[in-house]
Amino acid sequence: TDTPVTVLGLGLMGRALAGAFLKAGHPTTVWNRTPSKADQLVAEGARLAPTVGDALRAGSLTVVCLTDYQAVHELLGAADSELGGTMVVNLTSGDSTQARDTARWAEQRGARYLDGAIMAIPSTIGTVEAVILHSGPRADFETHEATLGALGTVDYLGADPGLASLYDVAGLAMMWSVLNAWLQGTALVRTAGVDAATYAPFARRIAAAVAEWLPGYAEQIDNGSFPAEVSALETDVRAMAHLVEESEAVGVNAELPKLIKAMADRAIAAGHGGEQYPVLIEEFSKPTEG
Ligand code: NDP
Repeated sequence: TDTPVTVLGLGLMGRALAGAFLKAGHPTTVWNRTPSKADQLVAEGARLAPTVGDALRAGSLTVVCLTDYQAVHELLGAADSELGGTMVVNLTSGDSTQARDTARWAEQRGARYLDGAIMAIPSTIGTVEAVILHSGPRADFETHEATLGALGTVDYLGADPGLASLYDVAGLAMMWSVLNAWLQGTALVRTAGVDAATYAPFARRIAAAVAEWLPGYAEQIDNGSFPAEVSALETDVRAMAHLVEESEAVGVNAELPKLIKAMADRAIAAGHGGEQYPVLIEEFSKPTEG
């Protein structure tokens, strides 16, 4: 806890990160483009660095949390010559290409670089509830794991610096798909006068049950073999047609049901009707047509 750390960027998230380091007892240096955002942290014991270069030299690691990667490049680009020998942990949200490019850019300037993604809101930072993903050189993560642990539950995904961003967006795909499926069902049952709160426990049970299937289905994907142990895709597609027809019959939006069915129809047209649901990975792994 006596490891000195630096936080660059004191927006809503950056302030939470710096606050968690302080609370854990780390000597904490901060810097922000708008210096007044450091006032509260300084009152709590943080040191406000006069320049980015000073901030980079103060900590044994520097956590960066800005709006986007463009801001990161503007800020660190201006302090280009001061990056040598630093350890940068970039927790700014972005895509995997930006993460890989920024890793290369930082390494060319003599910095060590880990990329991260924060799967949490500011109020949970510093608790186990805040999951923070990291990717980049394993040795660097291991050296700084205990220090980064002050921020929440830290996960290491692998050496490719793009992995944290990829998991970040993959998690969003899961989140929105579950929420949209729940909204579709809620719209359906409301046509029969059932309110959302009455339907929610049922929806939750289905979501939890389906989540249990993932490890077994993942094995089929990794083995590239999809024996229909539970049901064949052509059976599922008949149920998908019910979902489309029911949605249209009761007058709710049928776009999502139609999309679900269209992908399965393509898989069947490609000859996969007798295989199990995860064979759809082949449709998901192709670029969008048209
Ligand atoms: P804010 O808008 O509150 O803060 C943005 C920060 O970036 C400020 O410190 C701002 O400085 C700084 N900044 C922007 N552009 C520049 C620039 N060109 N040069 C220097 N500094 C710049 O955003 P958040 O703190 O909420 O988010 C930060 C990152 O954390 C984002 O990538 C976001 O996606 C991610 N994140 C946020 C979550 C949240 O719940 N808030 C959840 C998960 C991830 P200034 O104060 O001077 O404007």
